[in-house]
Amino acid sequence: MPKSEIIETDILIVGGGVAGLAAAIHLADLSAGLEKKPAILVLEKGSAIGSHTLSGAVIDPSTLKDLLPGVDPKDLPFESPVKKEGVYFLTSKFALKAPFTPPFMGNHGNSVVSLGKMTRWMAEIAEKKGVQVYPGFSVSEMLYENDRVTGARTIDTGVDKHGKPMDNFQAGNEVRAKITILAEGPRGSLTKALCRKLKLTEASNPQVYSTGVKELWDLPEGTFEAGRIMHTLGFPFAFNHFGGGFVYGLNGRQVVVGIAAGLDYKDPTFDSHAALQVYKKHPMIAKILEKGKLLRYGAKTIPEGGLYSLPQLYHDGVMIVGDSAGFLAMPSLKGVHLAIESGMLAAKTAFEALQKNDFSAKQLSGYDVLFKKSAGYKTLARTRNFRAGFGYGMILGAFHFATQILTGGRGITPSGKMKTHEDAACYKPLASVKTLFCKKFAKELAFDKKLTFDKVTDVYFSGSKHDEEQPCHLHVPDLELCRNVCIPKYGGPCQHFCPAEVYEIVTDPKTGKKDLHLHPANCVHCKTCDIKDPFGNIEWAVPYGGDGPEYENL
Ligand code: SF4
Repeated sequence: MPKSEIIETDILIVGGGVAGLAAAIHLADLSAGLEKKPAILVLEKGSAIGSHTLSGAVIDPSTLKDLLPGVDPKDLPFESPVKKEGVYFLTSKFALKAPFTPPFMGNHGNSVVSLGKMTRWMAEIAEKKGVQVYPGFSVSEMLYENDRVTGARTIDTGVDKHGKPMDNFQAGNEVRAKITILAEGPRGSLTKALCRKLKLTEASNPQVYSTGVKELWDLPEGTFEAGRIMHTLGFPFAFNHFGGGFVYGLNGRQVVVGIAAGLDYKDPTFDSHAALQVYKKHPMIAKILEKGKLLRYGAKTIPEGGLYSLPQLYHDGVMIVGDSAGFLAMPSLKGVHLAIESGMLAAKTAFEALQKNDFSAKQLSGYDVLFKKSAGYKTLARTRNFRAGFGYGMILGAFHFATQILTGGRGITPSGKMKTHEDAACYKPLASVKTLFCKKFAKELAFDKKLTFDKVTDVYFSGSKHDEEQPCHLHVPDLELCRNVCIPKYGGPCQHFCPAEVYEIVTDPKTGKKDLHLHPANCVHCKTCDIKDPFGNIEWAVPYGGDGPEYENL
């Protein structure tokens, strides 16, 4: 049987998104004058850089300009500066424009981007600076010596569904690195395992998430100008559900339309894909899309817990950056500028560690010191209790937010630190939810395939594909728990929370018993299941490199 190869590098970066590429570019720049430059390797699981990149698409460009000071602003890969913005409150039929933009939500000076395009552009810059960027490689586990991280291992391929090696078996490679930087995006599987093993989240609030679901549309010329952005609150979200919608105008007649739905909801039948379809039926949104055509679909989770949910950012031989750590500013839902900044701070720390040939946690704690002096820290500190306040519902959340604005982020909680709760622990049993989402919107969820689409059709527009011979990358260790507890009590919420119809509850026609069937090939790698299963009975693991969605311009 072919054995693992051992690859040596100075710096291994897992994840070719903005945070990982910013770390690579900045370290290459810092090392430019050295006689012996460090070897920097970026491994990305998507088939190409940007193919798994999905974001809200309005960014604060400040840190990108810090990262690439020599780049002419007109060469930045932006669609358009924000030209016009509005916040709307929606009922099921009406829209009311807010007379002002709520605090921290203004976008003056920001730009509309396609993050996929931006990461491809950053990867080209990184390669020109000598960074080795390899898409199509899934990293399945960390390597340790005692508790010191010594690198990571890529996944074995050519394994059948039962885990047995086939004729084309290829052992994963061991990548040994002085420092590993985890830049996997939200709910990274390596980051999760690392934090668990080394207890890096013991002093933190539980991380809380939203699922963002969006579609890219082509519209007739002149329907929605590039640089125009709309944010909405209210419909179709229940009053006690934290969430909202958005429409952003890109170049070339394209718009993105989407929703971000907080995962601390209680109703086990809430479905973020369905919520987007219902949202598009609102008269204001339907009018924008009426003569358009669906181009692309995608979904991803968004870490919203803020400052108090960050893990310890370093340990021996390892640092965590970007969405993997949870660098995201609320309530504007902006993480790209913080991802770039965290990548740059990790790069600076790595550069100093390489100079001293010291990769210990003590040396890498310099990353945390730099972060605490950064602009990003100040941004996160101002809204440090924002998301926790909205865990108590929209009215109390708005009240807490007002007190936080007046007190510089502290609010009125005696300790000054509000608690968050695990999203998975928020469900109510099916029988105790008064108005179920699936019943409330049953009529709207007859998909017409013009404006609204079923999940399987939308998955087609995500371009997702997986080698179907491999072991299932969604681990459900206790199927009896699904059958005997989760389905009777919660009705199988996985069939609703997954935006790609990976989980199906089927009924045996003879016995009437319900069971869970999986369609892992549909998965768009959003990680909602890893977060929102009520029993923590689903673990997302990386499939083969190159599998998953093929996002373009999302
Ligand atoms: Fe997202 Fe999990 Fe569904 Fe994949 S299986 S699309 S990660 S919820």
